Amino acid sequence: MEDHIYRRHNLNQREKLRKKRKRRKIFFSSIGAILVLGAGGLFLRSTLLPKIQEVGDSFMKATLPEAGNPGETVKVEELPEVKEFTPKRPAEKIPAEKAAPEMKDLKRLKEGSNHSYEASAYAYDTADVKAWMRGKKAFEGEKNLAFLTFDDGPHKNTEKVLDVLKRRGVPGTFFLLGDNVDKNGTSELLQRYITEGHSIAVHSYSHDYSYLYPGRSARADRILEEYEKTRTSLRGHLGEGFDTHVFRFPGGSMSWKNMEEAQNTLLSQGVVDIDWNAMSGDSEPKNRRPETPEAMGKYAMKTFKDNGDRKVAVILMHDVQKATPEYLDHLIDEFEEAGFTFGILK
Ligand SMILES: [Zn+2]
Repeated sequence: MEDHIYRRHNLNQREKLRKKRKRRKIFFSSIGAILVLGAGGLFLRSTLLPKIQEVGDSFMKATLPEAGNPGETVKVEELPEVKEFTPKRPAEKIPAEKAAPEMKDLKRLKEGSNHSYEASAYAYDTADVKAWMRGKKAFEGEKNLAFLTFDDGPHKNTEKVLDVLKRRGVPGTFFLLGDNVDKNGTSELLQRYITEGHSIAVHSYSHDYSYLYPGRSARADRILEEYEKTRTSLRGHLGEGFDTHVFRFPGGSMSWKNMEEAQNTLLSQGVVDIDWNAMSGDSEPKNRRPETPEAMGKYAMKTFKDNGDRKVAVILMHDVQKATPEYLDHLIDEFEEAGFTFGILK
């Protein structure tokens, strides 16, 4: 009985032990499984999942239809390398005149001349005018031609003369002194001669009789020197495009000896000198000077007729005289009423 009890006891003990071992096995297996699954999960999350995602994305991209092209798959092609564009030759600069001729400013200085593009229409060669004026060549124009010429400026009075000419729409030729250009000339004023349709000529630099005509005999070298010096001053205001081939001797060519040499020296530079065949009398001695503005206008016409009445009038005036802007209207009236048109010297 004791043995039986003992065996039974032993059996119970062994049974208990076996169950205990089984429980322990299950417990550790579970732990192991949990550990394996956990590690596996971590691995999936960190490496495999992104890979799957990537594959999925590229698959979607490759098969998704483009907007507007339903069902069409997009071919991804490698684009050729873009090379920088270099023109075969540099772009040509087109002058403003060619690009838009209608936009050309007709009031600006015509290159190589003493007047504007617009004034070319009524600019006459000085050599021709000189020949017509002296009756050495017949003037063929339908209407008589008048040249208003103003000596000795620029001067503070010049603007008033320009105002009258502008109001009347009549052009003139201004024989400037280099010394006065340097003293009284502003670029604004000099541009005004050009843009308002007049022309610019040279009347020496100094107007100094004793320097230019010592012993009343012309010094060709000094005259040329003063012409060039004055042109340089004018270019300082109007640019290198300015040039003038028109000259008037101070006192007039008829007043001095040895004029041929001086005239030929100027001619060798393409410069023509010109006097006048009519005058307003604004610089005549008091006893000969007309007393009223009206009389000065009439005097100009009278002197023109006295000098041969040859259809072409070159009228001597001085814009440095206070009377000039006062009589100028009357003088223009005289010549307009007689059927003259007005030109400039080039
Ligand atoms: Zn003078």
